[in-house]
Amino acid sequence: MNMMNKPENEKSAVPAETAAPIETDAVIVGAGPVGLFQVFELGLLEIKAHIVDSLPEVGGQCIELYPDKPIYDIPAVPVCTGKELTESLLKQVEPFGASFHLGQEVAVLQKQEDGRFYVETSKGTRFLTKVVIIAAGVGSFQPRTLKVPQIEQFLGTQLFYRVRNPATFHGKNLVIAGGGDSALDWALDFVGKAESVVLVHRRDGFRAAPASVAKMKELCDQLQMQFLVGQLTGFEQSEGRMTEVRVKSLDGLTRRVPLDALLVFFGLSPKLGPIAEWGLALERKQIVVDTEKFETSVPGIFAVGDINLYPGKKKLILSGFHEAALAAFGATRYIFPERKVHLQYTTTSPKLHKILGVESPVFD
Ligand SMILES: Cc1cc2nc3c(=O)[nH]c(=O)nc-3n(C[C@H](O)[C@H](O)[C@H](O)COP(=O)(O)OP(=O)(O)OC[C@H]3O[C@@H](n4cnc5c(N)ncnc54)[C@H](O)[C@@H]3O)c2cc1C
Repeated sequence: MNMMNKPENEKSAVPAETAAPIETDAVIVGAGPVGLFQVFELGLLEIKAHIVDSLPEVGGQCIELYPDKPIYDIPAVPVCTGKELTESLLKQVEPFGASFHLGQEVAVLQKQEDGRFYVETSKGTRFLTKVVIIAAGVGSFQPRTLKVPQIEQFLGTQLFYRVRNPATFHGKNLVIAGGGDSALDWALDFVGKAESVVLVHRRDGFRAAPASVAKMKELCDQLQMQFLVGQLTGFEQSEGRMTEVRVKSLDGLTRRVPLDALLVFFGLSPKLGPIAEWGLALERKQIVVDTEKFETSVPGIFAVGDINLYPGKKKLILSGFHEAALAAFGATRYIFPERKVHLQYTTTSPKLHKILGVESPVFD
């Protein structure tokens, strides 16, 4: 996916696990639409935030599940796609210079003796933060895995659920499994760059964009790639390397396909994952919060958006935006305990104009 305003992934010469923890006011877990708007609401109150997402891109469900579908119920935006909403939110949070840490799951969350929280990600990025705001939606999106016994031993060497560096697959014999946009897009992308490309899908119907399917069929006709209808059922190996996969077709015939690498794109499924281990009160896999501050059962940890539960909860983006505003005010208690924080309007407050980096308009 091409995000016009895609924030830079974290770049550092120091390996995350050896660097000192990053000290900050707030860590936001999840960069879906609500996590992104949380940056804005915290920013207005001068609260600096770091935001972490297990996906390599921001936008949560809007980008992963419906980037091109129109949304009609964002207040004052008659219609926008999931991708457009994400891009607008990124533009809106620009003035606050939040740091994005993408492609890493928040795995550890522990209260410290000094009242702060220790947060650690799957990549070893560590934080000491005054508050944590969980905007984790339906949980971390994890790739759906291939159910072939023993095949996971090749994960990261010959079996891949994501393409991080396409060049490593150039010149290789590739088998690509799946029928969605990711499978088709990568299959088309690797034609002419890989030694060979074989697409395997369990049926001759696709979830991918019709134009991609038509292009794939055209390339098959030109013998530039192959398409097999069938299921991956097994593999052969020699000296620790997977040498071929078995593809069983609907008529029961099993073909053996030699390969260097197997790329599987079966979509993403959400998992609550480590959040369930953080000692927060949960109900039906959601985090119970109050409706004044959207604070969880642990003081200093807030939960907003699809992940939270309270009487009357509706899983809508606009509900999450409201929750983010009140959670930000709730967080001020921990960040500026000595300060009384007043509500100010972005229209008229010179202080907010300064924070936003805009000129104060002159009113008659
Ligand atoms: C097909 C479809 C259409 C929809 N249409 C509408 C609509 O028209 N209007 C509307 O209001 N709503 C709509 N929704 C619902 C809307 O998308 C959700 O309400 C919204 O995405 C919730 O935002 P969020 O930020 O709370 O969570 P999400 O969008 O789910 O984002 C959560 C993010 O947190 C990350 N995450 C989770 N756990 C961790 C962890 N431990 N570490 C790091 N990152 C983590 C995830 O990777 C994800 O990116 C639709 C949903 C779907 C599926």
